[in-house]
Amino acid sequence: MQQWVGAFVVAAASAVAAASAPPLLEASHPRFGATGGIGAIKSQDLREWLSYVASDELQGRATYGAGIGLAAAYIEDHLRSWGVKPAGDHGGYLQTVRVLSVKATSRASVTVEVAGETRTFADGDGITLPKNMGGKRRFTVDRVEFAGYGLDAPGAGHSDYRGKDVRNAAVVWLGSSGPKGLDLATYRRLLMGRNRYATEQLGAVASIGPAIGAGRAGQAGQAGTGGRGEPTGSDASGRSGEPGRSGESSAAGGQGFGRGAPPPAADFTTVQRLDAMVPPNVSGRDAFFEFLFSRAPESYEALKRKADAQDPLPSFQLEGVKLTFNIDADYQIVRTQLAHNIVAMVEGTDPQLKNTFVAFGAHYDHVGYAEGEVSRDENGARRAGARGRVTKGAEDDRIWNGADDDGSGTVAVMALAKTFAAGPRPKRSLLFVWHVGEENGLLGSRYFADYPTVPMERIVAQLNIDMIGRNRDDKASESNTVYLVGSDRISTELHNLNRAANRELPKPLTLNYEFNDPTDLEQVYYRSDHYSYAAKGIPIIFFTTGLHPDYHANTDEVSKIEFDKMTRITQLIYETGMRVANLGHAPARDNQGPRAGRLTQ
Ligand SMILES: [Zn+2]
Repeated sequence: MQQWVGAFVVAAASAVAAASAPPLLEASHPRFGATGGIGAIKSQDLREWLSYVASDELQGRATYGAGIGLAAAYIEDHLRSWGVKPAGDHGGYLQTVRVLSVKATSRASVTVEVAGETRTFADGDGITLPKNMGGKRRFTVDRVEFAGYGLDAPGAGHSDYRGKDVRNAAVVWLGSSGPKGLDLATYRRLLMGRNRYATEQLGAVASIGPAIGAGRAGQAGQAGTGGRGEPTGSDASGRSGEPGRSGESSAAGGQGFGRGAPPPAADFTTVQRLDAMVPPNVSGRDAFFEFLFSRAPESYEALKRKADAQDPLPSFQLEGVKLTFNIDADYQIVRTQLAHNIVAMVEGTDPQLKNTFVAFGAHYDHVGYAEGEVSRDENGARRAGARGRVTKGAEDDRIWNGADDDGSGTVAVMALAKTFAAGPRPKRSLLFVWHVGEENGLLGSRYFADYPTVPMERIVAQLNIDMIGRNRDDKASESNTVYLVGSDRISTELHNLNRAANRELPKPLTLNYEFNDPTDLEQVYYRSDHYSYAAKGIPIIFFTTGLHPDYHANTDEVSKIEFDKMTRITQLIYETGMRVANLGHAPARDNQGPRAGRLTQ
């Protein structure tokens, strides 16, 4: 799972009652026999494969390192021996992922019309657009909604959007620090994600917030992760502190840009199409807001004073205001880095339905190893060049093995591929993708979603597995729990199929939807590869057992994996995938959004 913010943030204990386990079913179901089906998903296999994938030999599987190539070869060899067909580029298992560093020249502007009076603000003069603003286009919005702090945090008793429909409107919010009483450390992700929340969750066509001083500088300076639709502002600078980022270009790449030549300055890094249509996330300065609010029920000056004091803010429509967004940037690619996804398939049995796919995914990269050495003084030991957290007492361990993150998902998808290949086979085909570069910003899955090796419209569901080998916070009470994220957001039918599959397991798991809440403080929904598919409208389920003290630490090791639990979760995913793959129709996309796990309602 992606770390995003440098500091490890302990999830707040906002537990939502987990689904109660239905009564046990007799284990006489034909699929539970000794051969084939879920019985073929075995803990010993998972242990054997993970012992290699998460071994020191693989050097922490950094995206541009040598170890990840060993992992790719290992997975490929197994797929070949199991008769799982290649589905990557040119008839092979590998798909080349092109990671582009890009320089942008903006000619973008936003024109504001207030009661017939018009002013145009150029990018960099009163407003700032993200460097990666997507393809050229021009559109006008005649409904502009001021939404106070632009924040829904029901856990803190704050909801700016309650009863407010902002679909197809432009949303304006103020107050960088949010309202009084919000603990910044706890609510950081929600505060930084306000633009994304407005456009992606609530259907706004544009979001406008205040410029955040440090954030702007940080965003311009860092080669971003290419995440469009991600919050602008200081979230970007926060992410530049992500371990491994600084070493990505030269150290981890193994070969610098060229002999002594520094890489040309880039504004952002991306794997996605540069001509995609992206809802603009605009940062405004005082002059912009003063004009925007010039006929509003309350002046900008008064609103700003309240926002600075973190006092309650009103909410109203800006009557008679029109905004014209002129999205216009030229992009120059200044560097290309190469990596590999691994893509394979098992063909379905139905002559028609086999042209459609149920996709299973995990990421096989992790954050790598530290090149720096350990120094010791009166304050203890310190590892230079750490790729994440260093567990106290384990300073001599230079390798971030990523056994749980996401070695667990990597070998679970191997088990699924092996089991489906051995049969029984369902009607639809099964697609297996091991994504690269997840830790660098969902690179492999974002690339696959924009440049798929099978048509995206033929993928009826994607089941993503990231970190299923542990108990959340190492608590024994979590030993039967798996967290499901996103299952009800796009397809209620998929959600129900998954719950039915669990009920029929010999020993059902406890399904917990806490992280599916749109106001989840960890914003887990955006932090793994399923999101790249969900952004294309594909129904997804993200399976995870949650964070723990070894998350992104150099002690995420095989010895700490709960293999029996992991086996049962893999069986649940198999059973869910089997049901979807045998369904006569694609799971209906009713797009009702997150409901399971809400803190309120
Ligand atoms: Zn991770």
